[in-house]
Amino acid sequence: MNCIECDRPANGNCRFCGRALCKDHFNSANFIVSVAQSSEDQAKKTEVLVTKNVLKCNHCEPVGELITLEKFKED
Ligand SMILES: [Zn+2]
Ligand SMILES: [Zn+2]
Repeated sequence: MNCIECDRPANGNCRFCGRALCKDHFNSANFIVSVAQSSEDQAKKTEVLVTKNVLKCNHCEPVGELITLEKFKED
C-alpha cells in the first residue's frame, strides 16, 4: 500500500479514515478509543479513554463542534 499523497510506500494508516500515509505526510491527533459509563453508579460521569498522537491524514477532519454525551443518557 502506498501513501495517498506521494505514492511512496506507506508507513501506516490514518486511524480515522484508514488512508495509507508515509511518515512525511501523516499528522497526529487524539482519538477516543472507548466510551464507558458505569451501570452500577449512575451518578458517575461518562468516561472516555483517549489515545494521543495517533496517525491522521490531511483529508479527514473532525467536525467543528463538540457533541455532548448527555443526550445519549437513558432516563
Ligand atoms: Zn507521502
Ligand atoms: Zn484520514
